[in-house]
Amino acid sequence: MKMCSRRDFVKLMGLAALTPMLPFSGSGAGYSSAMAADRNTGTYDIKHGEAQVIPIDENTWRIQEDMVRSFLLTGTKEALLIDSGFHVQSMKKLVEGLTDLPVKLLNTHADRDHVGGNNEFGTFYMSMAEASNYYHGENRKGTIVPVEHGDVLDLGDRELEIIGLPGHTPGSIGVLDVEKRVLISGDPIQDGNIYMFGVQREMHAYVLSLKRLEEYKDRFDTIYPAHGSFPVSPDLIAPLYTGVERILAGKVPGVDDNRNGTPIKKYDIGVATILGDAK
Ligand SMILES: [Zn+2]
Repeated sequence: MKMCSRRDFVKLMGLAALTPMLPFSGSGAGYSSAMAADRNTGTYDIKHGEAQVIPIDENTWRIQEDMVRSFLLTGTKEALLIDSGFHVQSMKKLVEGLTDLPVKLLNTHADRDHVGGNNEFGTFYMSMAEASNYYHGENRKGTIVPVEHGDVLDLGDRELEIIGLPGHTPGSIGVLDVEKRVLISGDPIQDGNIYMFGVQREMHAYVLSLKRLEEYKDRFDTIYPAHGSFPVSPDLIAPLYTGVERILAGKVPGVDDNRNGTPIKKYDIGVATILGDAK
């Protein structure tokens, strides 16, 4: 996969052998549980360790676990898996059942529900700013191939632009699927619980990232988030950062709660729930 900065981006020429798509039954190579998917609410009955594969279009798949979703994108030369899931038994096997193209991995960030299958890949695209978050986790192996804001990956007739979204974690990134006008956002832009407590997470950076993202809004029509409803509208971006600005200004009452024994404050900002530090 060719990677270069936006400035010197040159489309790769090469032996882009078009790989025929595998016939697809809609159930994902035997990895799906018998389950009822509700596209409107995003609720699924998936057993621990299983995932459902849902085709979005002829070269994009959503891989849905109970708590988190990953995406597989194919070009004419390569495929890219965006995030490797949480408990999926073998994410590599799963995606190799969907395409004959070589599959590379990119992580939107290194929280554990997004890197569950990383050890199977060995190398993966990730922001360098995410190294601490990644390597301080349990049983984290492999090598980061750094990507940063403005980089473009070309899967072969499919350009993907990296957009930095620090805040939820220091190296959170989104992936702009340029021609399809879709932003794959990871965790920062979604309508569920957004984790913003702990030393790695920073609400001020989150606000700056989402304000910068406004500059890109004429380049995408829809957002594929990792959690919450699927898909969501770009109109979600502004109320998210104005909501977090109101939290920073002390204008949103926080409710005491805890996550895995860590005391937190829960802030309802209308469009999502922000989980912040207990102060
Ligand atoms: Zn997550």
